[in-house]
Amino acid sequence: MNTQEVLSMFDDYVIANYGRLPKVITKGENNKLFDLEGNEILDMFPGWAVSGIGHCHPKVVKAIQQQAAKLLHIDNTFYTVEQGKLAKLLSERAFGGKCFFCNSGAEANEAALKLARRHTPRQQYKIITAEKSFHGRTFATLTATGQSKCHEGFQPLPAGFVYVPFNDIDALQEAFDDEVAAVMIEPIQGEGGVHEATPEYMQTIRDLCDANGALMILDEVQTCMGRTGRWFGYQHYEVVPDVITMAKALGGGVAVGAMMARPDIAASLVPGTHASTFGGNSLACAASIAVVEAIEEDNLLDNANVMGRYTREKLAQLKEKYPIIDHVRGKGLMIGIQLTMPGAAIVSRCLEKGLRVNCTQETVLRFMPSMTVTSEEVDRAVAILDEVLAQGETS
Ligand SMILES: *Cc1c(COP(=O)(O)O)cnc(C)c1O
Repeated sequence: MNTQEVLSMFDDYVIANYGRLPKVITKGENNKLFDLEGNEILDMFPGWAVSGIGHCHPKVVKAIQQQAAKLLHIDNTFYTVEQGKLAKLLSERAFGGKCFFCNSGAEANEAALKLARRHTPRQQYKIITAEKSFHGRTFATLTATGQSKCHEGFQPLPAGFVYVPFNDIDALQEAFDDEVAAVMIEPIQGEGGVHEATPEYMQTIRDLCDANGALMILDEVQTCMGRTGRWFGYQHYEVVPDVITMAKALGGGVAVGAMMARPDIAASLVPGTHASTFGGNSLACAASIAVVEAIEEDNLLDNANVMGRYTREKLAQLKEKYPIIDHVRGKGLMIGIQLTMPGAAIVSRCLEKGLRVNCTQETVLRFMPSMTVTSEEVDRAVAILDEVLAQGETS
């Protein structure tokens, strides 16, 4: 089959709910992709942050192969070594919480929202989220998502959601009352354009939640597993949340999500209150355990910090050459390049030259390379972007 044939198969049989780039990917190898014609692509946005330690990391592949031959799935009527071990690894790297496993970021957030409603003592129901947030596409998480374009055509939405401008302390205080069950935000907004929460904002959320018996939920679906240079995004701040959710990079490419809650809060989810058939199966957990181990054995948190700084410096140098770059921001390997014009054409032109980057909120180019990225790869990526920008007129 050639690319045209695959595209026409999609035309005929796959629902067209994604805007796709016209390439068929057949192989991923660390920071490289290969398309159907054998062309190589340097991947600075691997799997939308899923392949956080590169495509097909050998340790993850080996763990999957070994686990697949032993036990793929057993229902949660039983115990497994893998699920227990993964929960322990995650808990020890965060705030000592207990885990519930599911299969995606949206499901992890659903679990957190259900937990908040169920746990809060006075039947509190309001969920405060931020404008420009992204929390998923299920009914509750799409409602939590503070972007009206995601809501269009899906009303009526579940009740009880309140939106506040991100990082606006006054607005948050204004929105708070004793009916609030939870505040849910991303420590660094991803789809919203790589915006970090300020330390004061995080502290205010913590204080208001404590004062009103509400839960502080951090959506770490994108910021988890070292993306920002620490295990979790909240670890850049002084506050400790009650609940975090994770997915994307957790399974190294296998579908897995998790919610972690403080043990006394987690106790509210008694049998019958929540479940997921596939959640935490042995294959997904074995892959995730291998991700944690690879990050530690290969010192990838250090590399994420070093390469994150290096990439931001390199990109900041480009800014000197091209006024279309307004500024570069981000933490670790979660990097946004604020443009003064739309970036979609830049993404396409980079891809033609063998570089994959992403653009969000129309004008924010995103570099989110894997934690295994090298300075040579960053140099090459920046050189391609340089070439594209040098051509000018990118709209
Ligand atoms: C991607 C993402 C989600 C949704 O995850 P899915 O696995 O697509 O359901 C939720 N929150 C954040 C912050 C994300 O980046």
